[in-house]
Amino acid sequence: MELPRLSFGIGDRFGQEGEAQLAAFVALAQDGVVVTPVWNKSNREHRLCGTHPAAVRAEADAAVAALRWPHGRFVDADHVGLATVEPFLASSDFFTIDVADAIGREVSDADAQSFAERHAEQGGGLRVPGLPEPLRADRDAALRSARKSLAAVREAGRVFRCIAAHKGENGFVAEVSMDETDAPQTPIELWFVLRGLAEEGVRVQTIAPRFSGAFHKGVDYAGDPSRFEAEFEADTRIVQHASRVLGLPRTLKLSVHSGSDKFALYPRIQAVLARTSAGVHVKTAGTTWLEELIGLAEAGGDGLAICRDLWCDALARIDELCAPYATVVAIDRARLPSNETVARWDGPRFARALRHDSRCPDYDRGLRQLLHVSFKLAAEMGQRFHDALRSHRADVARNVTHNLLERHLRPLFGALR
Ligand SMILES: [Zn+2]
Repeated sequence: MELPRLSFGIGDRFGQEGEAQLAAFVALAQDGVVVTPVWNKSNREHRLCGTHPAAVRAEADAAVAALRWPHGRFVDADHVGLATVEPFLASSDFFTIDVADAIGREVSDADAQSFAERHAEQGGGLRVPGLPEPLRADRDAALRSARKSLAAVREAGRVFRCIAAHKGENGFVAEVSMDETDAPQTPIELWFVLRGLAEEGVRVQTIAPRFSGAFHKGVDYAGDPSRFEAEFEADTRIVQHASRVLGLPRTLKLSVHSGSDKFALYPRIQAVLARTSAGVHVKTAGTTWLEELIGLAEAGGDGLAICRDLWCDALARIDELCAPYATVVAIDRARLPSNETVARWDGPRFARALRHDSRCPDYDRGLRQLLHVSFKLAAEMGQRFHDALRSHRADVARNVTHNLLERHLRPLFGALR
């Protein structure tokens, strides 16, 4: 199975927005740009929502049938490892093999030395087409990379072989993710990781490094966008070179995680794709759930009441809700609006606080981030929340589609006809 050049990951916590999400891809295809939708859900999200991987497959199939989507689509077992992959094997055709935890794990000195022996460049420099200077890829560089990443590479090999034993080597798309870690990978480290993956026989089609700067959930990039652009281009050129010379799949490309709402980066990414003809996978997850809330707020009545109740619970349980996401949210608690304040808001005011429009004076990034990690509360609400999504379908769907199309897909891919 081959992952096309342009793909975009979408998450749907409660499984009701498949058609509204796909409608954005349909509109973009009508503009002349086909982007492959990939429905993703991690084990962590399934656990917090009380759902099963088979439901994501059913939702994707139903949306594709309803809108007669003629292009490809995938269902991604997001951030899985050996311990969590099993329930995804039947229903997923895309697996994000997460080895971030193994980064920095010790390997034996003999192992690291022999990796460096095999993979250091003759003469010490690596020339990559499109990069002005050769990269330093001598024995020392290879050894440093091995000490940092070789355990992660080996782990990726184990998980890949486990999945391949069930689905066949070419029966699924493999992504390798190393983004949920503190230290960014340099382009040369990415190169040595790819050499290691090639040696392990991992048919990797997309790889998610940790880029520099902050990729917090649901809010814009924090960092220098021009520095990101240079880094993203160097990584893109490395990946293109690796796919040509290391025997890795020709479809190999970068993946950008926590990719929703990174508005400062989309024109940069698009410019690099245009310059290099490379592809990309951009993964988002929680942005659709926030649009559900915006739709419910705009609907008013019981929809708005649900939003206020969720806010009340979220403030009361903030520690518990933020704990699983400690590295990917940054909330200034002292500035969060109180219960009393939010109880006075009407629907449009609540929607303005939540909607990601940084030019709007009512936009509140703390409220947005806290609600981003609060979907568990809606899961606990159960029937009441699901019924509200159904009775306010038009308000919710309008926001879900608009957010993906106008704030994400068009800014990222619109000019790549
Ligand atoms: Zn991720």
